[in-house]
Amino acid sequence: MGGPEPSIDLNDEQLLRYSRHILLPEIGIEGQHKLLSSHAVVVGAGGLGSPVSLYLAASGVGRITLCDHDKVDLTNLQRQIVHDTTTIGRPKVESACGALARINPQIQVIPLQERLEGARLQELVGAADVVVDATDNFTTRHAINRACVQHRKPLVSGAGVRFDGQIAVFDLRLDTSPCYHCLFPEEGDLEEMRCAIMGVFAPLVGIIGSMQAAEALKLLMGVGETLTGRLLLLDALAMQWRSVKLKRDPACKVCGRS
Ligand SMILES: [Zn+2]
Repeated sequence: MGGPEPSIDLNDEQLLRYSRHILLPEIGIEGQHKLLSSHAVVVGAGGLGSPVSLYLAASGVGRITLCDHDKVDLTNLQRQIVHDTTTIGRPKVESACGALARINPQIQVIPLQERLEGARLQELVGAADVVVDATDNFTTRHAINRACVQHRKPLVSGAGVRFDGQIAVFDLRLDTSPCYHCLFPEEGDLEEMRCAIMGVFAPLVGIIGSMQAAEALKLLMGVGETLTGRLLLLDALAMQWRSVKLKRDPACKVCGRS
């Protein structure tokens, strides 16, 4: 892929646009420049992908590839806040690109209206600085995880259905990091719970997606401590969080190196 390398100096408009980031000593001009030079791959432009893409775009991530094969449906609008009534029937990536461009016309958003798999998935993950999994099915989740393990890319994984949300980071640049498969083996009998059948509380995906954006930005800038090695589980009905420590499974079929 590759685009023009942005200059280390931010122009006046950028200094103003990102001033509240630049004011943070943990970010500053250097961190903001890292974001502007970064490429995030966001898979899914639905309930999670909406806040993820909105925050990454507003924060000035220089290049965002957004993948989703689907079209905007009236039933999406209760929670998929990057879309609106005027874009019903249009491809989600096209609808989202319009919204993101209105917020931040200075960044590049690349829409991919397809199911991400095979060679295309490999190519994209290989070219990413961070991968955000905002999909809703196990097959794609496992495919994304395999590509991230292979290319050693940080993966921010989120999910939400009913009032239950979860988020984890797999920083596969590190030898010690578990992968998604260590946690949810593909051969396991985990029941797939889709929003279409189960329902989903609108702000739940907003909460989880916003946290995915936060973790992706931290990974891109190399600041703070990420969720690597931890799974956070949210019960939004009781508004209780639970943190589970994750360990790499040495026998994992995907990341096992023994
Ligand atoms: Zn693994």
